[in-house]
Order: sequence, then structure tokens, then C-alpha cells
Amino acid sequence: MKALYPSTPQRIAVRQAELGVGFQVGRALPTRERRMVGAWCFLDHLGPVDIGPDGGGMHVGAHPHTCLQTFTWMINGEVMHRDSLGSEQVIRPGQVNLMTAGHGISHTEDSLPGASRLHGAQLWIALPPEHADIPPAFDHYPDLPTWQEAGATLTLLAGELAGRQAPTRLYSPLLGVDLHSASGGRVSVPLNAGFEHGLLPLEGRLSFEDQEIGPQDFLYLEPGRPSLELELAAGRRLLLLGGQPFGQPVTMWWNFVGHSRDAVAAAQADWEAGSERFGTVPKATERLAAPRIPW
Ligand code: MN
Repeated sequence: MKALYPSTPQRIAVRQAELGVGFQVGRALPTRERRMVGAWCFLDHLGPVDIGPDGGGMHVGAHPHTCLQTFTWMINGEVMHRDSLGSEQVIRPGQVNLMTAGHGISHTEDSLPGASRLHGAQLWIALPPEHADIPPAFDHYPDLPTWQEAGATLTLLAGELAGRQAPTRLYSPLLGVDLHSASGGRVSVPLNAGFEHGLLPLEGRLSFEDQEIGPQDFLYLEPGRPSLELELAAGRRLLLLGGQPFGQPVTMWWNFVGHSRDAVAAAQADWEAGSERFGTVPKATERLAAPRIPW
């Protein structure tokens, strides 16, 4: 007899997208099949890609955000973040940058020459309606809870897991974990059964409940799972996301999130008009133009 739980994971194809000029990323969220995992509403897998000593890599000119947090997790390489609050922060491997856009912010991102390899993940977290218009903020987290288990290194990027708590500033119940199995082995990760989860292989392929998946596959797991059981070969790395189902759709257009089309259209008009709402990013050499609202 087939068990009711866990239900079969939903397998979603990661699509190729361009970030900045000519930098290809793997976009796992949003897709037609799945818009969000908890409040996680955007997931780009950056690289891994080798970049030359003269630059290349990721370069994104000044652009605005609203009603979301941008969340960057670095595995290899270094990226300079500058924003309209005056923040200037290089993110290095093992660190998280978290920019809370709230009412409005703008920023630039540039991978630094010197590092030969760029690998990371960039996510957005939608802010719930009661926090949609909070003042913008920027946080850098150089030290995250990290521990060993069954041949794997777990790093807690967001939320709580196994009695540990990540320091990252959140506005809804979420989980983010990087799991790297250097020597291989069987790992069991306890889950909050009230959360939905997403699984993205970042390095190498793995089998999960009869499905063979790699970095081109994102798995969505419905709520109701007490744990995640993984049999990993040496060198595998994956990103585990989780969250309480967000409960309502959000409007996403270009770099804006909002709780209505009007809110997003207003943000687009403010950016086009050069409104103070989004400030100015120091040293920015390019300001990205907002595409026309399609409705
Ligand atoms: Mn951005």
C-alpha cells in the first residue's frame, strides 16, 4: 500500500536566465509550476563558472527592489555589494549578504577579479504585507552556524535547525541550509513538518526517493515531512530551503515584489522618474532601465 506521506516530490526544471550582461544563471524559482517555497520567491544558482583575471563574472548595474530581501550565499569567489544606504561590502565564501528592500533601495553587484571561480546562490524573500514598506537595511553575516554530521558539513543560512539558530534577519518562518558532503555518507536532516521545502543540487548528482537529480533539477516537497534522508556520494553539495507556506500570491515584475499590481506599478514609475525612494548607489556606472509594465 502506498503511504500517504511523504508525497512524491515535484521535479521542476531549472531554466537558464541572464543576470547582468552575459552572465548565465540557473533559475529555479519562480517557475510556472512553482512560484514560492515559503517566502522564498526567487532562486538563482550562480555558476560554478571560472572567471578570468581581467574580470568577467557577474556585473549588475544599479537597480531597485521593493517588498523583498535579497539573500546571497557565496561558495566560491568574491562579489562587491554597494547600495543606496551607502553600504559597501565584499561577500566571501561561507558568508551571507542580506539586503532588506522594504519600501525601496537600489544596489549594484560586481564579482571581483582575482578569484578564479564564482559559485553561489542568490535568493529573494518576499516580505509579508505588514512589513512590505519597512525602511531598507543591509546586513552582512560572516559567521553562520556550521557543524559536521555523517561526513557532511551543514551551514545554517536562515532559520533554525537541530537546536541551532541562524542570525539572519527574517520576517516569516524560513529555513535555509547548505549541505556539503566531502566524504560521502547518509545524512538525516530533521524538518519542520509544517514547512514546505525545496532541494537544489549545487554540485554533482544525487538520488532522492527514486529520482536522480542534478543542478538542473529543483525538487519541491510538500509540508508533512518529519525529516530528509539523503544518501550522498563524496563531493556533493545541495541547498535546502523551507518555509511556512506564504498563504497568498505576490506580484513579481522585474526587480519588484508587491502585494498588488498597483504597488508594483508605482515602484516602476518611481524608479523611472528617478525618485528619492531608491536613492543613489555610490560609484555606480550604470543605471538599469525598468521594462514597461505588461498590464
Ligand atoms: Mn538585485
